[in-house]
Amino acid sequence: IPIGNSKESKESPGSTWPKDIIALEPGETAWDVVLKKIKELSDSDCRDAFMVADLDVLASRHQVFRQALPRVSPFYAVKCNSSPWMLRVLAALGTSFDCSSQGELEQVLDLGVAPSRIVYANPCKPVSHIRFASLHGVKLLVFNSEEELIKVAQHHPGARLVLWWTQDSDSIFPLSSKFGARLEVCEHLLESARDLGLAVVGTSFHVGSRCQTPRNFMKAIVDCWPVFEMGSRIGHDMSLLDIRGGFSREEGSDPEFEEVAGMINTALAQDFPEGSGVEVIAEPGHFYATFVCTTTVNIIAKKAVLEPGGRRKLLYYLNDGHYGTFRIFPRESEPRMPIMVKELSPKLSLFPCTLFGPTCDAFDKLFLKEVQLPELDVGDWLVFPFMGAYTSVLSSTFNGSSPTSICYAVGPELRSLLETTP
Ligand code: PLP
Repeated sequence: IPIGNSKESKESPGSTWPKDIIALEPGETAWDVVLKKIKELSDSDCRDAFMVADLDVLASRHQVFRQALPRVSPFYAVKCNSSPWMLRVLAALGTSFDCSSQGELEQVLDLGVAPSRIVYANPCKPVSHIRFASLHGVKLLVFNSEEELIKVAQHHPGARLVLWWTQDSDSIFPLSSKFGARLEVCEHLLESARDLGLAVVGTSFHVGSRCQTPRNFMKAIVDCWPVFEMGSRIGHDMSLLDIRGGFSREEGSDPEFEEVAGMINTALAQDFPEGSGVEVIAEPGHFYATFVCTTTVNIIAKKAVLEPGGRRKLLYYLNDGHYGTFRIFPRESEPRMPIMVKELSPKLSLFPCTLFGPTCDAFDKLFLKEVQLPELDVGDWLVFPFMGAYTSVLSSTFNGSSPTSICYAVGPELRSLLETTP
């Protein structure tokens, strides 16, 4: 929604902003916004769950990425968090985009982003989406099979193709069982593309989301070199290397981003040095989005149970859960501890607790394991930070749930950038 043109807009001094945008005062932080909202909601009857997105954090993640990887152009993975304001900020900052469906292509094109700033990175595309990309000038397409080449030759013969080959061992969310061509079939695929009159311009790999071994990036980049040589020998003008996503979130359990970036820079300098004519792009998702959002939930119901042996266990029922913004949690090895917004004595006893979501499905719980929490009450608030990646995008309407509302905190510098960007 253009600023100043929104149905939901309200007057604020000097400019008009939609209601879901919260202009931070000097010295105010997104955490202050969370606490203010908790207070407001606690004073009313409605204690709905809510998310706060800190758009300044998004801008600083972009800066960190650019500084650490100066050779690499980021194409933000829209699938990770497609909130309109997140995309709008990234578009204003000059980021490019990785889209994986017609819906995502439409969302990004509607922001006025040039088609040349988009990679259609899903290697298994419906024909109608390929045609949409062709019609709207999105040329950079990823493939990993002969069947995909046949569809592209028929419906988007002017595409610039990127071959995704497989390399993703040792990541928390591997992708190789679904996507990527094995190295042994790359030559055949490159020849098939040539025979169909298609242009392959580069190669790509995905180490898997939240890669745990920085050296995997280095190895994958080095291993791309034979694919480049193969492509050139077969007659393709190989000029693009897509190192995709998988960058750590830097949250204790993942390797440091700086270490990963150092490995990538070394591998690039060695095999694809500046002046080689090779453009390098990446599709970061987690790295950009994780720290941007906070989800705040309310305890709507509670049950204490005595287990055999007399162990007291607490069941807390929250107003957001597995079918809302927490769907990614069971895939993580350890539960994430919430921040409790309540004055608690340091000597409080802890109990094994299960955190359930609000629906009538017994599987609707935040974690597969129990967590240790103190005795809390119905009406208390729990805050989960680092909720920007693969959270709201995965929520459903199951059991009549509506999506958890999001408001966006923005500092003055970013506000003026957004005001001056068409
Ligand atoms: N690119 C592609 C094709 C992906 O499938 C994904 C994640 O699934 C990403 C980029 C983003 O990965 P991450 O969020 O780990 O950076």
